[in-house]
Amino acid sequence: MKALGEYEVWFLTGSQDLYGEETLRQVAADAQAIATGLDSAASIPVRVVWKPVVKNPEAILATCVEASASPKCVGVVAWMHTFSPAKMWIAGLQALRKPLLHLHTQFNRDLPWGEIDMDFMNLNQSAHGDREFSHVEERLGLRRKTVAGYWQDPATQERIGTWCRAACGLNEVRHLKLARFGDNMRCVAVTEGDKVSAQMQFGVSVEGFSVGDLSNAVRAVADSKVDDLVAEYEAAYDVAPSLRAGGAEREALREAARIEVALREFMAEGDYGAITDTFENLDGLKQLPGIAAQRLMADGYGFGAEGDWKTAVMVRVVKVMARGLAGGTSFMEDYTYHLDPAGPKVLGAHMLEVCPSISDGRVSCEIHPLSIGGRSDPVRLVFDAGTGPAIVVALTDMGDRFRIISSEIDLIAPDAPLVKLPVGRAVWRLRPDFATATECWLIAGGSHHTVLSRAVGAEMIADFAEMVGCEFLLIGADTNVATFKKELRWSEAYYHLARGLR
Ligand code: MN
Repeated sequence: MKALGEYEVWFLTGSQDLYGEETLRQVAADAQAIATGLDSAASIPVRVVWKPVVKNPEAILATCVEASASPKCVGVVAWMHTFSPAKMWIAGLQALRKPLLHLHTQFNRDLPWGEIDMDFMNLNQSAHGDREFSHVEERLGLRRKTVAGYWQDPATQERIGTWCRAACGLNEVRHLKLARFGDNMRCVAVTEGDKVSAQMQFGVSVEGFSVGDLSNAVRAVADSKVDDLVAEYEAAYDVAPSLRAGGAEREALREAARIEVALREFMAEGDYGAITDTFENLDGLKQLPGIAAQRLMADGYGFGAEGDWKTAVMVRVVKVMARGLAGGTSFMEDYTYHLDPAGPKVLGAHMLEVCPSISDGRVSCEIHPLSIGGRSDPVRLVFDAGTGPAIVVALTDMGDRFRIISSEIDLIAPDAPLVKLPVGRAVWRLRPDFATATECWLIAGGSHHTVLSRAVGAEMIADFAEMVGCEFLLIGADTNVATFKKELRWSEAYYHLARGLR
């Protein structure tokens, strides 16, 4: 089973009737071979489903309507083997409600130089068929991805796979339900946002609950379920002595497990894919959820602290996009800096809620005081993030639109063990350098909460932003402040104009 094998993209080939039956049979056979080849590509995580060659406006419209209605279909790949007069595509593309990838390839890699005749030229017309198609895509102003390259080239397949993952992220956010316990942390700006606008643009439904709903459920959890979960903790982590059987703080571990059981049942019963909580609304809870939030994230749920539902949405989306890829994804916060001129570093962490999927080393289960929140000491997982390239992603509400900002980073080991910092921790360098990356992040109004992912790259986030029609800003190796500042100004004007009058 492929990592996202419950989803499909449809492979749609355009042609027209005038070529005659023999050529059209060949078009269908070649298109099927490409669809099968892409379906078996390791870098493409969904099923690639061949659809009969479309040769007239009626068939194009019918296929696009069918794709739009299919719950399994997360996107459509279109390719023109021959010429396919593109006015035939207008109605279909206008009806298409799924992401579109225009694949610019051709069936044969090499020209058979000495053998080429007009029959060959008649059959292999992608070079101009795809230009005709793209003209209408652009005239319609369609949001889409264009990928050019030979279909058997791993680099081409990789880019198609990246887009497929983004399409699965879109499918997820279209259906996502998020439960928030309590509101945002009081007086904080960046975690706020317009939930109606978010639902209109992304699809996610953000639903509020009293933390009393959760604490009642915690009190009702059966002891046997707590026993089972504690045993799971003991099997999975290095559990601190005081939390082990007979230890002085054993009951705190059982309480943490009780919170996790209740949260999981709440999420499952309500079909929620993401949650938020906040230390300011803990009525009836004995601890701020630490290990519970961490383990829910490790199982693919979205999470945001201090009521940060936008980051929780993005954690969930990136978790779905990243399924089956190496490296994890977590809620993260830019916390504090190491400003050595030889190479400034960022230390990222949170009070508790960092996902152990970003670690590739030892994870221990510990209990320590937490002054904030005014509750008992919370149980948490403690670890260092693994090293290597990663990305941080923020979703912010600019008032008139949403904005996604990504920064490419390189995770590194801490200079010395962080023995007195018992949380999930990550240390990284910024690309292209500390000053450029942080200045750009700040002038873009980026939040301190992010999604950190070792599994996905900037192109996937860009593809997702394109699909959902969201402004996207990337800070990476090629970024410079002056150009970035101009991009912000141009972007401001574009989104203002693009929204139009209502
Ligand atoms: Mn925070």
